[in-house]
Amino acid sequence: MSQLRITDVKVICTAPNGIRLVVVKVLTSEPGLYGLGCATFTQRPHAVVTAIEEYLKPFVLGRDPDDIEDIYQTAYASSYWRSGPVLNNALSGIDQALWDIKGKRANMPVYQLLGGKCRECAPLYAHASGRDFKEVEENVQRWREQGYRYIRAQVAVPGMATYGSRSMSVAGRPTWEPTPYCRLVPRLFEHLRATFGDEIELLHDIHERVPPIQAIGLAKELEKYHLFFLEDPFAPEDIDYFRILRQQTATPIAMGELFVNQNEYVPLIRDRLIDFIRVHISDIGGLSMARKLAAFCEFFGVRTAWHGPGDVSPVGHAANLALDIACWNFGIQEQTVFPEETRAVFPGCPEIRDGAMWPSDRPGLGIDIDEKEAAKYPFPDLPLNGSWAPIRRLDGTAIRQ
Ligand SMILES: [Mg+2]
Repeated sequence: MSQLRITDVKVICTAPNGIRLVVVKVLTSEPGLYGLGCATFTQRPHAVVTAIEEYLKPFVLGRDPDDIEDIYQTAYASSYWRSGPVLNNALSGIDQALWDIKGKRANMPVYQLLGGKCRECAPLYAHASGRDFKEVEENVQRWREQGYRYIRAQVAVPGMATYGSRSMSVAGRPTWEPTPYCRLVPRLFEHLRATFGDEIELLHDIHERVPPIQAIGLAKELEKYHLFFLEDPFAPEDIDYFRILRQQTATPIAMGELFVNQNEYVPLIRDRLIDFIRVHISDIGGLSMARKLAAFCEFFGVRTAWHGPGDVSPVGHAANLALDIACWNFGIQEQTVFPEETRAVFPGCPEIRDGAMWPSDRPGLGIDIDEKEAAKYPFPDLPLNGSWAPIRRLDGTAIRQ
């Protein structure tokens, strides 16, 4: 019997709903056997495509796709300088595809390879935002009527380019000031608790938008509204502040969508300074790294809350779901509702109903890509080629966003 080999690596770029998605297809010497992996870094997709096509593809061609861990470790170190969102996403595309292939070979879903089901489905949190409290309230109510028990609430700060809300700006320029935001957010949660009571689980994302000491103040003020979690109070550059924050409030803390390196998240988990790990799985290198991270978190009482916005491809959501189902220390899953065009490109998109994402019993990641459909949606032309334009304070200082 001839040994199975990787025979080709294809990179598929598609934007069915305007978001630039990068998916890797690893083909093997067995006719019809291939795997898919998410390599989506939507702000720098072309850099990831180059990293895969020019460097990882020649590195893995001819390898045995069963050797996931060895391929991961050797590819990771193959650039000598490593880590970072470009190289990690490239690696994730290959890595997730190899897990998909192994699942197909075993005729099992990937969550079975990871230990089997800890739960039937992954409860989701939905995003509710609005221009004012009333609009946020209406959107929270809309999700509740669809069966959601966990809802992230964000409200626009008048005159400011607010994260997570339809925003307005001063003098036609995206503008942000932290203080009006810090005054407004506790009032939003006071309003939501007064309206909906204590049964609903509420979440909020600061998105690293305020100076660290103001984030600490906000976390303390929000304590009485019993959030499920408060996300990204600090930028990754400011993570030493978690030690101070932890001494002052029991507001549960989620962190990590910008993390790309284990040296960023290991100390926070080891020292029990966060409650939920929020990494974007393709940005830390794929499923192999994420399953280790989840197991590490279990030992320290930290739950998972994998990043799950629209710039995770449906293949990436399927990888999130495999971990959600198999990891005992699952916390919550951020949702994206897949629009019709996206579902047509990705047959087998994870099913969402009753406020949860449901696994299938299809082998591998359980998802496919229709390349003809994908080709209908080339990357759009975007200002600055998709880079984020600066947002500035009133004095002109650019903020992290
Ligand atoms: Mg976030």
